[in-house]
Amino acid sequence: MGGGGHLDALNEQQRQAVEATEGPLLVLAGAGTGKTRVLTSRLAHILEQHKAWPSQILAVTFTNKAAAEMRRRIVDIIGPQGEELGWLGTFHRIGVRILRRHGEAAGLRRDFTILDQNDQISLLKRLLQGRNIDPKRLPPRLFADIIDGWKNRGLAPEEVPAADARAGDGKGVGVYKEYQERLVSLNAVDFGDLLLEPLRLLRSRPEILAEYEERFAYILVDEYQDTNIVQYLWLRLLARKRRNLCCVGDDDQSIYSWRGAQVGNILNFNKDFPEAQIIRLEQNYRSTGHILKAASGLIAANGNRLGKNLWTPGGDGERLQVRGTADSREEARQVAADIATLQAEGRRLDDIAVLVRVGAQMREMEESFLDFSIPYRVVGSLRFYERAEVRDINAYLRLIVQADDDVAFERVINRPRRGIGEGAMASLRELAAARRISLLAAARLAADNPGLRARRQLGGFVDMVEGWQAQLGDMAPAMLARQVMQESGYRQMLRDSPLADAPGRLENLDELLRSIEPFATLGDYLEHVALLLDADQSPADGKVALMTLHSAKGLEFDTVFLPGWEEGLFPHQRSIDADAGAGGSDHLEEERRLAYVGITRARRFACISFAVNRQIYGSWQNATPSRFVEELPRQALAFGAMGGGIRRSVTRRESARRGDGLADARRRPLASMPAPAAVAAGQKQGSPGFRVGERVFHRKFGYGRVREQDGDRLCIDFEKAGEKKIIASFVEPAARAAAAL
Ligand code: ATP
Ligand code: MG
Repeated sequence: MGGGGHLDALNEQQRQAVEATEGPLLVLAGAGTGKTRVLTSRLAHILEQHKAWPSQILAVTFTNKAAAEMRRRIVDIIGPQGEELGWLGTFHRIGVRILRRHGEAAGLRRDFTILDQNDQISLLKRLLQGRNIDPKRLPPRLFADIIDGWKNRGLAPEEVPAADARAGDGKGVGVYKEYQERLVSLNAVDFGDLLLEPLRLLRSRPEILAEYEERFAYILVDEYQDTNIVQYLWLRLLARKRRNLCCVGDDDQSIYSWRGAQVGNILNFNKDFPEAQIIRLEQNYRSTGHILKAASGLIAANGNRLGKNLWTPGGDGERLQVRGTADSREEARQVAADIATLQAEGRRLDDIAVLVRVGAQMREMEESFLDFSIPYRVVGSLRFYERAEVRDINAYLRLIVQADDDVAFERVINRPRRGIGEGAMASLRELAAARRISLLAAARLAADNPGLRARRQLGGFVDMVEGWQAQLGDMAPAMLARQVMQESGYRQMLRDSPLADAPGRLENLDELLRSIEPFATLGDYLEHVALLLDADQSPADGKVALMTLHSAKGLEFDTVFLPGWEEGLFPHQRSIDADAGAGGSDHLEEERRLAYVGITRARRFACISFAVNRQIYGSWQNATPSRFVEELPRQALAFGAMGGGIRRSVTRRESARRGDGLADARRRPLASMPAPAAVAAGQKQGSPGFRVGERVFHRKFGYGRVREQDGDRLCIDFEKAGEKKIIASFVEPAARAAAAL
């Protein structure tokens, strides 16, 4: 075991940072320079030198997974003693531990419960009812966001500054106060309390603070650039006496300001600990020269940064691939095809990641993975078809196709709210059970029964569903789904919502419409989704990681795919608009940091792509490549196809399979990519007008021949998948498909 050997694996600056155990220390360094490694070695070093017991070290990581990883590495270095690190974890986890120990002092009994977000919302809902606050105008989620914002700033109800008191239509503070009282009577805390309550405890009980000041001989913090105010206040208090606080971070990777993170904490550190030593690390151990050059060149466009150099002694490696595709479906297909090639070459799938800007991009990626039989896992967020809004709309569609689907009925009857209360639902369930009919049928009966409460509302709902059912045969499934989103009021509900995640949910609805389009019937679509949901989800090795850029912080992969680098998507339109409104560039700079985080996750190879056509907000739009693509230094890039590694093998393999012409298409430089308009026009001309007998290609079903044509619907006999009814715009002439690949 260890015996100090791990110090040999460090460079000069890293070793300095590990050995400078006494006094405050800030390690400020770029991606992949070994900050996390320094933190781990420092922890091991402190234990090895018997400077402290494991129980005297407070070590904060950004995720539970990162904590588990750090514990594992420390056990590797120093042996089983590493297991005893009771204070290694996220701020939230450490907060729980403090509250369990001193709950009474904070007004909690030891067995207090932690409310999740759903519990929190229903508690707020009841509370707002009691205060006669209209949940349509001021929904519970709004107050949850407001309260969480205050908790992230370390503010108890009585501490909220006057300038903030207008939040929630002036009702925020009152709701916050009552909400906290209810939590106490429930003997419960929410997530924000796990940060706020320990701070209050330490501030109000000097003897408890003294105990922790004494206990924590050393404090270590990873990803310091993304701490928020309340977290910083904890650290400042806990380190006040012993002052052995070591924070590592990178201002260029601060990407959580929307959740209250403060890059300014880096500057505060110097103010609050003026004797602090600052160490910079400049050697990057993770990535090749080209990847570093690209990332450094990009982030240089940010004005607001401390600035740093990064270098690597290794070679330049492969250039980053930059690739434009005609549309986002093709983009997803090419990523999956590349991954299949990497897999065939014997590369491990868990060394590959696809990092997207927004959750709505995942759906096409997931479907491509399924097409290519590539095992994948979604990290840190729900898979597309598991999202609440997607499940809601799918439940409406199920009810249209299958009127007996009571689960679907229960899911949507009050989404959006229709004033059909628990009482009415209970009598409905009774009626359905007594008559052995579906809830929908029972609702029809109840609507005609003058005695029943909520009769009018039930009638309205049933009329609406029956109206859709009547159109089932005549209308394209996606059109009908669009109508459902509209007429049910679901879209309006999201549009009216002041919540931070509502725009993202609306985007998911558009994405959902898109996923329905290729299907000839709603039944086919629902079956497809049911099978997707059934697909193996067990977390295991050997899977490609699919996640948002935000979730990828601190991680590294051999190969990283970065799709969707288009204006409006990345940088996101909301950031562009927010800057335009405020007359600054803060949001854009945060987007650029996110791009920097993305590129620097790659060790060996990164592929950035954009689609010339992407369906945003329900319609196809021409997209222009992201300004971030323009900002990348040209000499680190290869456009379209490339000579080395992955490209060469894909090209060779596919050339052999489909005859040539392909290799040329791939090698086209960016400048000769078709202009967006040309590609769009090409698509429009190409879609309708197939001949019976013509050979065509479909993304999912492969090659086949047209048997019949009825307007824009084709009946196609697929070579592998058999006969299918397909909308014409979803197939291409076989010859053109091969040329475009
Ligand atoms: P990020 O900013 O992305 O969080 P980081 O600065 O925390 O990055 P690490 O994850 O600690 O960087 O290190 C990046 C990679 O470089 C890891 O694989 C790590 O093991 C390796 N590494 C760091 N320092 C050294 C070193 N002195 N010798 C060899 N490899 C190193
Ligand atoms: Mg790190």
